[in-house]
Amino acid sequence: MKTTVRTIEGSRQGLFIGGQIVAPKNGRYIDSFDPTTGERWYGLAEADADDVEAAVSSAHAAFRNPAWRRMTQTERGGLVRRLADLVLAHADELADIETRDNGKLLKETRAQMRSMPDAYHYFAGMADKLQGETIPVNKLDMLNFNLREPIGVVGMITPWNSPLMLLTGTLAPCLAIGNTVVIKPSEHASASTLALAELVAEAGFPAGVVNVVTGTGKSAGEALTRHPGIAKYVFTGSTATGRRIAGNAAENLIPCSMELGGKSPHVVFADVDIDHAVNGVVSGVFAAAGQTCVAGSRCFVEASIYNRFVEALVARTQRIRVGHPTVDETDIGPLALADQLYKVEGYVASGVKEGARVAVGGKRPQSGELGRGWYFEPTVMTDAQNDMTFMRDELFGPVVGVMPFSSEEQMIELANDTRYGLASGIWTKDIDRAMRFANQIEAGTVWINTYRSSSFMSANGGFKESGYGRRGGFEVMHEFSRLKNVIIDYSGAMQDPFVIRLK
Ligand code: NDP
Repeated sequence: MKTTVRTIEGSRQGLFIGGQIVAPKNGRYIDSFDPTTGERWYGLAEADADDVEAAVSSAHAAFRNPAWRRMTQTERGGLVRRLADLVLAHADELADIETRDNGKLLKETRAQMRSMPDAYHYFAGMADKLQGETIPVNKLDMLNFNLREPIGVVGMITPWNSPLMLLTGTLAPCLAIGNTVVIKPSEHASASTLALAELVAEAGFPAGVVNVVTGTGKSAGEALTRHPGIAKYVFTGSTATGRRIAGNAAENLIPCSMELGGKSPHVVFADVDIDHAVNGVVSGVFAAAGQTCVAGSRCFVEASIYNRFVEALVARTQRIRVGHPTVDETDIGPLALADQLYKVEGYVASGVKEGARVAVGGKRPQSGELGRGWYFEPTVMTDAQNDMTFMRDELFGPVVGVMPFSSEEQMIELANDTRYGLASGIWTKDIDRAMRFANQIEAGTVWINTYRSSSFMSANGGFKESGYGRRGGFEVMHEFSRLKNVIIDYSGAMQDPFVIRLK
């Protein structure tokens, strides 16, 4: 991989279409910024409908290309494995690039990049395990069976918070099955996806199997989601954009898989070790400066321990070190974009106006270097109510609202009183209660005495306005393949169709 943070610095990054880096047809580039300073660090191609057309055509040509279409399943799995090995070999460079682009902690992006190859290997192994089935047909000398085949060109639109990790769970199975893809990464963090495309070429995938069009959602994103030549869209991002993309796709009757926002409940019962639960709540909401879709941003605490819990949570939050994302001691880096920072500030102010209290944090650090970047202090808001604006909307920042509950029934009602349904967490030693929670909560993921633990081997996704479709596990192979029913008559004697008479 030739691309590094140094080669990107100050450069103009092109598009990746048909296995080559190409300039956008309109010649336009937009700035990408370093979130630790707010300064420009490179220009990225601002693709429009013409570039999207070229990328989709290239993906279609690759889908028909015998070099890809007629590759055996085991060979295709081998290519995905080669990509996994290249990702592992370049994990630290990919992490450097992504951290520079979105300000995520280097230790976290490194851990993500180093673990990603395992997911590529897992899905690579499925390339030659996807199988159809034979079905009874109620006639003699006939064979009725289903084939599973790739669906075609998949359009992937990814967000800025964990671009490569979120891409892996859909790109790896798509390639293992034999689809081709066009990826539109976020204009705020496109560099690591372009670097990955270089590894795709190095691994030996035929040209056009993977294409990357960068640019804005308004231009490149809209053009991609209005294109009739896409077989399926995979989107990760906000519910508002998801709704718009699903609308565009519906015009052409194209199915989607949507992983959208969340406002996940994190519940603490009185029977737990408070320090353990505090650690769980802190990591659940402040990791990645709150910029995770599963952030446990509504914290419900059993009334009998509410004061003690809040005291411990505030004390733990005060010890969180905000700092530069490449420094090992840093616990929380900056937000990825200036707009995100202003949005979080606005929600905290609205919470205070509606009666909540900032127990700790609530502002941007003012001193030295931190004052220049897009940093925000980890924030605990007490006296929160479930109907306050900051408790209803997804902030995507390091802010948790805490409120007491007095009964299990009330807690379930509060936890489910949200338009989202992505994740949830509960801390209790009572397994019966934990299972009652797991059964009643309206969320795609339930964590019991842990939070944010995840596995690419299980199917994840949301309920309600958090989306539909699943990532991970074997289920994902069904998301990116389609069934074809085949019936064979091997009697050797086709009956005269008009011989049947009324009895
Ligand atoms: P968006 O939903 O706006 O963006 C996600 C992706 O969609 C980006 O690649 C974006 O491109 C693209 N996009 C935007 N508009 C369109 C469009 N009309 N057609 C096609 N593609 C489009 O999220 P933001 O980046 O603005 O973040 C805002 C909020 O989204 C966050 O505050 C958070 O609530 C949520 N979010 C959720 C994530 C999750 O993991 N579930 C991840 C990231 C964000 P571009 O960035 O270039 O505009």
